[in-house]
Amino acid sequence: MNCPNCGQPMKVANFDNEIVLHCATCGSSFFDLNGIKHISQSSARKIAEDAQGHYVLGNKKLCPKDHTELAQKMDDPALPANTILLECSTCHGVFAYPDDLLKYKGVRELAPLSPLSMKLLPAPKTIFMLSLFAVLSVGVMMNYGAISKNFSTGSKADEAIKKVVIVSDDKKHYLFFDFITESALTSEVRFNDKTTGKQVIKKVSTEPKKVHHLITSDLDLSHDITYQIFLGNNAKPTVEKKLELK
Ligand SMILES: [Zn+2]
Ligand SMILES: [Zn+2]
Repeated sequence: MNCPNCGQPMKVANFDNEIVLHCATCGSSFFDLNGIKHISQSSARKIAEDAQGHYVLGNKKLCPKDHTELAQKMDDPALPANTILLECSTCHGVFAYPDDLLKYKGVRELAPLSPLSMKLLPAPKTIFMLSLFAVLSVGVMMNYGAISKNFSTGSKADEAIKKVVIVSDDKKHYLFFDFITESALTSEVRFNDKTTGKQVIKKVSTEPKKVHHLITSDLDLSHDITYQIFLGNNAKPTVEKKLELK
């Protein structure tokens, strides 16, 4: 049974005597009918904190059990505003992203999204992207030890960066570029468009931060693009890497 969100195999877990299909890659879960109602807040927290932070695939989310296309659940009076649960019309299972699960269960401890990113985002597909940012902000920081090194050792900047996640929306208009540094630092990314020869410089964190978010529509994502990350006052950036979209 594969995750409707990221396609990775889901594990079967037992929380409060409810069978939960859980994806440890993106932190999403699939509950039996009413299972999501029965699990406790502490279980919801445990489930949500397991996320490694990962990208989101296309629009269609299929039920891990019967492959029915999941649809947004609307009829639940307990559903808080801006919370998305997806429901299977065949087995009536409920799919939840980790942050939505916490919101649904009344656990509030998520880093707020910047108003800028909210304004920039087209609806409604990208609501799924917003879930991703919450996953990155909370989930990845908690799983610090498990984070893989995406950079080969080169400069200090390469060593300081623990994870880079790059995704785009389905129309390839917006680039979502997130990364994590070991200590709080300011950051900037320089994109080199190899097709036009143009360089696009983006300040990411003007205040020292550990989790760095960039959303931009200034790049033509059909082009051959490389990027380098500059950290703090360190003049030496990361090695130049190809921008590979998932
Ligand atoms: Zn997943
Ligand atoms: Zn189903």
